[in-house]
Amino acid sequence: MNPESLFAVALGITPPWEVEGIEFSKENKRLDIKIGFSRGATFTCPVCGAAAPAYDTKEKTWRHLNFFQYEAYLTARVPRVKCLNTDCGVKRVSVPWARPGSGFTLLFEALVMTLVREMPVKVAAALLGEHDTRIWRILDHYVQIARAQVDHSDVQRVGMDETSARRGQDYVTFFFDMDQRRLLFGIEGKDHETVKAFTEDLTAHNGSAENVTDASLDMSKAFIKGVREVLPNAEITFDPFHLIKHMNDALSKVRAEEAKLFPEQMKGSRYAFLKNPENLTEKQDEILTRLCNYRLKTARAYLLKLALQDVYFADNRENGESRLKGWYNWAIRSQIDQVRKVAKTVKNHWNGILAWFDSKLTNGFIEAINGLIQSAKRRARGYRSTKNLINMAYLIAGKLDFRLPT
Ligand SMILES: [Zn+2]
Repeated sequence: MNPESLFAVALGITPPWEVEGIEFSKENKRLDIKIGFSRGATFTCPVCGAAAPAYDTKEKTWRHLNFFQYEAYLTARVPRVKCLNTDCGVKRVSVPWARPGSGFTLLFEALVMTLVREMPVKVAAALLGEHDTRIWRILDHYVQIARAQVDHSDVQRVGMDETSARRGQDYVTFFFDMDQRRLLFGIEGKDHETVKAFTEDLTAHNGSAENVTDASLDMSKAFIKGVREVLPNAEITFDPFHLIKHMNDALSKVRAEEAKLFPEQMKGSRYAFLKNPENLTEKQDEILTRLCNYRLKTARAYLLKLALQDVYFADNRENGESRLKGWYNWAIRSQIDQVRKVAKTVKNHWNGILAWFDSKLTNGFIEAINGLIQSAKRRARGYRSTKNLINMAYLIAGKLDFRLPT
């Protein structure tokens, strides 16, 4: 076997294509494989599929997998064919080792897709000696292809969440299938129009807005408006995780204010207040007990936070509602402005908060998914555009089927 036919076998080059020559440059650290075809060879007409002779050719080059430390390139004279069926016209044939318009072979692209699952795109780009925008383009292509095939006909319970794309400037909203725990759709923005765009995408993938029975969201006006407008059968559940976060934020503000007034008493309490009693260290437990004795607002706010969490441990909606009523009455009379604000928010979102007892759309899952999105953000470091960030989120959380060449 001569080197040409050896490379033909290794690359899977079959007739009419053949390896015509191999050039190896030690100085340029580069291996060039020239591909051609024999005189009189016929190709498949890309329009009708009939065999057709070459009309003219154009030379093209593709980056291939490295050959040890050497960058490898395929160069081929790619013909246009003139089909016997004159309606077809003169058309460029496709090559079996690359997709149209790409400067990379399919195997190189498969390597790229494997690397970007494991490391930031910038790192993968540096490793491959390519500009990262070319790597992002590959990711975009395969995500589009994979998403074109997905079926959303069984989607019934959805969750939505916004995340800041960079430095709180641009926002991206993600929509999830809460049962199958996958990312369904991502879009720039955080207004009610994002929900409409989601339902359009849902319809494009065999799903239906009418099928959606439950929607889990934070208490943002925009999402509520969007859901009311375009998801006619969805009962809203306000995500417990977000409500508790509101309460924690209120508690932190109360604590910060009192820490200025009573620095001695409040010393060492910052992290204690974020924990639940069972997770406190002995020292933190002492601090909290001491603060309760001082009758500080922070201590009461802490107890109110625990009581709000406790609502979710009721065994049914009815008991949950009576706990929430008790909490509300206590909170609204607490004389702590920050807490009273949370109480008012609770009152305005009463049914959606209690809807959790029926839907049980859980905070744990939202947190887990948020973790995935955060990791997508880290993985997409220097992602240049929100489109790239969304593609990275699809790669990580979309459970997409990438049919990559092997
Ligand atoms: Zn034809």
